[in-house]
Amino acid sequence: MTGLNLTVVGSINLDMVATAPRLPTAGETVTGATLARHPGGKGANQALAAEKLGAEVCLIGRVGDDAMAGEALALLEDFGVDLSGVESDLAAPTGVALIAVDPSGENQIVVAAGANHLVTPEQLPARIENALIVQLELPISTVEAAVGRATGFVCVNLAPAAPVSDRMLRRADLIVVNETEAAFYGEMLHHGGGRVVVTLGAKGAALYHGGLEIARAAPPRVEAVDATGAGDAFVGAITVALLEGMQPEEALRFACAAGALAATRPGAQPSLPTRDEVEALLAAAD
Ligand code: ADP
Repeated sequence: MTGLNLTVVGSINLDMVATAPRLPTAGETVTGATLARHPGGKGANQALAAEKLGAEVCLIGRVGDDAMAGEALALLEDFGVDLSGVESDLAAPTGVALIAVDPSGENQIVVAAGANHLVTPEQLPARIENALIVQLELPISTVEAAVGRATGFVCVNLAPAAPVSDRMLRRADLIVVNETEAAFYGEMLHHGGGRVVVTLGAKGAALYHGGLEIARAAPPRVEAVDATGAGDAFVGAITVALLEGMQPEEALRFACAAGALAATRPGAQPSLPTRDEVEALLAAAD
């Protein structure tokens, strides 16, 4: 589908994933790990998710003036995300997430936000007329400014959970949280009276409107190997689905299938599904 223009204001990271025999305790060194490097960052992941599902996406963010930047942006470039709003910063390195994973899939993550923390409101256009997706991995003042300048549909993914203004919650046409984030915000999520989606991992997701549950869907059964990127696939997909005019239940089913597919493959961006893959999974589940 063409003609669905979306702006994502968000984080861009390089994920360094060390798969180790076990996770270290404080002060301990664990050897015998293998390293994988994947493009990540919630903003970049959601931008790529939406682009692969058919939207024309423009990403606004910041990377360092270093070799990691090219690696972090490679898949976005390959799939045609508009990166003209991504600036390169001499003062800070590209954001990095250091991820240790044990054989059971348990992880420890340290994020060095680097250039992501230097995205200021000055970097944003005066008006954002496209539909907008934001998350909370940039300075909150920048996220709030982006939402304040949006004139169309706004999706706010409140991840990772952090205090935000009531004004932003009321402005959002769609709020997406996982169960942990839903517990952090509590009833506040519903104060604006808009649509709120709570994702429930392998159990799927529920959609609320005006505080009342109006739809719920479960993902098709899949062999999950790594849920990294599942939440971001879901956010990109539910936004595309609602903007295309899908009804709440259909939109949830579509987004759950996108999240489930992302959970079947390792890494964040390499695991994001295409539109054809999502449609094939839904057709097979019918
Ligand atoms: P987050 O990664 O942000 O914590 P969730 O774990 O709730 O978010 O996952 C987001 C979506 O991805 C879920 O709503 C679901 O559709 C899908 N998903 C996640 N984990 C699995 C899984 N193990 N099996 C199938 N689908 C999954």
